[in-house]
Amino acid sequence: MKRKFQPETLMMSHGYRPEWSEGAVKCPIFQTSTFAFRTAEEGKAFFEVAYGLREQGAREKTGLIYSRINNPDMEILEERLKLWDGAEAAAVFESGMSAISTALFEFLQPGDLLLYSNPLYGGTSHFVHHVLTKFGINVLGFRPGATRAELVQLIEASGKKDRLGMIYIETPANPTNDLVDIAMCRSVADQFSTPERRALVTVDNTYMGPLWQHPLRHGADLVLYSATKYIGGHSDVIAGACLGSAERITRVKTLRTFLGNMIAPHTGWLLLRSLETLKLRMEKQTENAQIVARRLARHPKIAKVYYLGLLSPEDGEAYAIYQRQCSAPGAMVSFELKGGEREAFAFLNHLKLVKLAVSLGSTESLAQHPATMTHAGVDPTEKAAFGITDALVRLSVGVENAEDLWWDLEQALDKVPAWVDTTVEMV
Ligand SMILES: *Cc1c(COP(=O)(O)O)cnc(C)c1O
Repeated sequence: MKRKFQPETLMMSHGYRPEWSEGAVKCPIFQTSTFAFRTAEEGKAFFEVAYGLREQGAREKTGLIYSRINNPDMEILEERLKLWDGAEAAAVFESGMSAISTALFEFLQPGDLLLYSNPLYGGTSHFVHHVLTKFGINVLGFRPGATRAELVQLIEASGKKDRLGMIYIETPANPTNDLVDIAMCRSVADQFSTPERRALVTVDNTYMGPLWQHPLRHGADLVLYSATKYIGGHSDVIAGACLGSAERITRVKTLRTFLGNMIAPHTGWLLLRSLETLKLRMEKQTENAQIVARRLARHPKIAKVYYLGLLSPEDGEAYAIYQRQCSAPGAMVSFELKGGEREAFAFLNHLKLVKLAVSLGSTESLAQHPATMTHAGVDPTEKAAFGITDALVRLSVGVENAEDLWWDLEQALDKVPAWVDTTVEMV
């Protein structure tokens, strides 16, 4: 009888056989730029498939040619990564931004409309506003919490409703954990699609994936990752991934070949190693985050905590989306101190264990100040509208001992000057 193993079981073996490499149990680093063909006929056949000159035979393996096109570390990583999301195919990149920019370039045409959720990751926001617009793509953002009717109205009012190319979302949003309903976006995209032209739904799943949210199951066409975050998980690599149907990922890989932004063999190998502990790490991180978030919510110097694990039925639609879409609350906790930048900085400057750094999803806990760091480039009025205040701190919770972590957060909070409401004092 054949057993279907779970992804965490397959991370140590899937897609690799020791006999390929002198019996090595672990997949080696294939640090080579080019691969020797056995015969000229074989080289010809490999190129025909790689360049799409003919269909690949049912039994035919894609031959190794040149490491910009393919490499065992890249391909085995893709085979393993796709298991978590139940995707047909995956393409891995040298950064999250290269995965995002390649997917957007491949699937958008001049004249198309791109509808996106706010707030977006800073790099993506810059790419959308300053690069895509240069290529004649119309871009339009919607606010956190927007309803289906609002999305439809925005598209109709844009004058481009017959050119909706893609709805691009980040959920939960960074740094406030606002949720976007993926299935709702699918239904809006369907409403503006025709049999000849499907409006795609693309989800940047960096914040929750690949464990706690599987966008393809909710109707997304493409899933994107900064693999620098949870997938890499040790703050020692920059990498990215794009997942979806075999047909779409073939298109993404073809553009990747010509942009030349594929993952390097050594980075691919590091990520293969990271994937073996992915579930263990993410489970411990979410367990720690739940402990920390609950205690922060009760602390007298804290005004508000944004954490999916604190949502309750009173939160209405957000809670309903969370229940449908996510299997755990994750390890990203944002909170507002009572006060402003002075109080937030005092807290950050007194942390002893938690590092003051951007990025997220790693084994070590990291804290940063979105208003002046990751979201420094966001327009001030939009910042206020999205809840990115001067008193907001974002925390990525790691795998440390939870009591040690709490000790650090609490001692730093103790050092924050007691906040006096100056607006009242001045009266
Ligand atoms: C970090 C990040 C990116 C960009 O990824 P890089 O690996 O830094 O290029 C994109 N989206 C989100 C949500 C991120 O956190």
